Amino acid sequence: MLDIKIERTAAPKEKPADETKLGFGHIFTDHMFIMNYDTGMGWHDARIVPYGEISLSPAAMCLHYGQEIFEGLKAYRTADGSIQLFRPDENFKRMNVSAERMVIPKLNEQDCLDGLLALLNIEKDWVPHTEGASLYIRPFIISTDPYVGVRPADHYMFMIILSPSGAYYSTGLNPVKIYVEDKYVRAVRGGTGFAKTAANYAISLAGQDEAHKQDYEQVLWLDGVERKYVEEVGSMNIFFVIDGEVITPALTGSVLSGITRKSAIEVCRDKGYKVTERRISIEEVAQAYDSGKLDEVFGTGTAAVISPVGHLKWGDKIMEINDNKIGPVSQMLYDTMTGIQWGKIEDKYGWIFPVK
Ligand SMILES: *Cc1c(COP(=O)(O)O)cnc(C)c1O
Repeated sequence: MLDIKIERTAAPKEKPADETKLGFGHIFTDHMFIMNYDTGMGWHDARIVPYGEISLSPAAMCLHYGQEIFEGLKAYRTADGSIQLFRPDENFKRMNVSAERMVIPKLNEQDCLDGLLALLNIEKDWVPHTEGASLYIRPFIISTDPYVGVRPADHYMFMIILSPSGAYYSTGLNPVKIYVEDKYVRAVRGGTGFAKTAANYAISLAGQDEAHKQDYEQVLWLDGVERKYVEEVGSMNIFFVIDGEVITPALTGSVLSGITRKSAIEVCRDKGYKVTERRISIEEVAQAYDSGKLDEVFGTGTAAVISPVGHLKWGDKIMEINDNKIGPVSQMLYDTMTGIQWGKIEDKYGWIFPVK
């Protein structure tokens, strides 16, 4: 069992009175979890301290070369007031996959989970009570050596911060508008696409910015080599329903292995759908659309869970999918997954992790 030192704040903050106005990622709770790594000592000094600024050398390596990784998950409050997590073990497993790619020392996954549970135990009143709102959990690791040379660092900080966040769909499950990005790429084979690391987001901002200017919510990324195969959307994996078959791009190294993706595949198979993980070109998607076989397109990710795509633009071609309405597979997945997450339906998959 991880030995965690706890220092409680003397000045707890006022909790947001109106949970319908939380938005995402603006508000942070009273405490945070920290652990340090030093070469020779390993990970040590697990502690929970009052939430606040941290001091870093301006030469800290993470600030210059981006040796950073992160995770994202949520704590949900059920109708009976208890708190639960959705597959948190998968997040810490993936964090170690990202760590390996970014040459960050791995953590003991059980220690991470113990640290998170201890933090949640102190912060449980911060888990929102309003339907659809949740406590967003952001574990991350930064390199801290004061050194501007390029090499893997010798010193790191692992932290967990918590942010109460509002319902993603405050006005119901709305289809999004996305376009196929043909100027920029997000990831290439051999790169960092499969790792949850800051750099992947930094390089996605230009495309995202242009999409917003053109009144699109997100971009759909194509593979970085041939610019032909569909990869994923912003911070979501992508699914197509073509002629009744559920298809999602295979994990070829440039796509992030989403936990929502993995769960959605399992739920679809369980409900009797044929699910295929393979390379799928944007041309094939357009052809399916032209022949009336593109039934649904949707994204999957922790934030939105399921995000139906109603409008997809590829060059001059505009595809209005399922009349810009939510399709049956998207709706079934949304109902099933959010039902399990909020404890409204039975979790026969064993995905729920109760916070005691
Ligand atoms: C986090 C993330 C996802 C979604 O992963 P989940 O585990 O389902 O939240 C998809 N794509 C990218 C690029 C991501 O960073």
